[in-house]
Amino acid sequence: MSDLDREELSGSRPEQPPSDKGGISRRSLVVGGIGAVALVVLGGAARATAGEIAPIRPPGIIDADHFIATCIRCDRCRTVCPKDIVVTCGLEDGIINMRTPKLDFYGDSKSYRRPEGKDQEAIKADPYPNLLVAAGKGYCNFCHLCIDNCPTGALQAFDPNTQWLGEAVIDPYLCIAYEKLGGCEKCADYCPFGAITIDENRLPVVDPSKCNGCGVCVNICPSSTYRTYKGSKKRGINIESTGQDRPS
Ligand code: SF4
Ligand code: SF4
Ligand code: SF4
Repeated sequence: MSDLDREELSGSRPEQPPSDKGGISRRSLVVGGIGAVALVVLGGAARATAGEIAPIRPPGIIDADHFIATCIRCDRCRTVCPKDIVVTCGLEDGIINMRTPKLDFYGDSKSYRRPEGKDQEAIKADPYPNLLVAAGKGYCNFCHLCIDNCPTGALQAFDPNTQWLGEAVIDPYLCIAYEKLGGCEKCADYCPFGAITIDENRLPVVDPSKCNGCGVCVNICPSSTYRTYKGSKKRGINIESTGQDRPS
């Protein structure tokens, strides 16, 4: 009978010390596993709390923390917006953002009309009046109504020439010009701030230093009308959340 057999039969086999093979003990693995699970849970909790993508806010927020602390979810900005772009954050935007306002440029209106005649000259001289006289919904004309009706100062004075709501970004998979190598220049034609040019390949290019995220280009983009529906409201050009202060 071997020593091992004897130990097993007598029940006196000594406990093995924790294995240290490869420098990783079972305990380390368990602790590491718990840590990894905790990170995943915390990451999920953080996403659930703050949302995957920062919402695009109405004009005039100072910063995200100030806004969350001062917005009382009263809904006034949404009710006064004449362009119907202020909507309410839901659970998909994160728990801390729920019922706070965000901008949605994908309304059902595509009725932006560029003023004709004399107003065209005014547009070239100063893009701001263009937005004030433009008809239609689905973009921000910086009318200030949401700011004026905010009772807590969560929204404050906003200058569309030096601040922004977000940034227009071309989606080459949806933009008609990318598919046909030209053929559509609507966003460049209608941008009231001269932020979009057409390059030598007849493709639209956004200048982020001029774009303030007003959403006129999203509103006028015909990609969802002329292309096969791809399963979302996105268009050939979309506003992405980038904060409201231009980088210096
Ligand atoms: S500034 Fe006017 S158009 Fe823009 S979000 Fe506020 S209320 Fe709406
Ligand atoms: S309006 Fe839309 S489809 Fe036309 S060039 Fe601009 S992004 Fe592309
Ligand atoms: S590129 Fe679009 S969002 Fe930006 S200023 Fe021009 S129209 Fe407005």
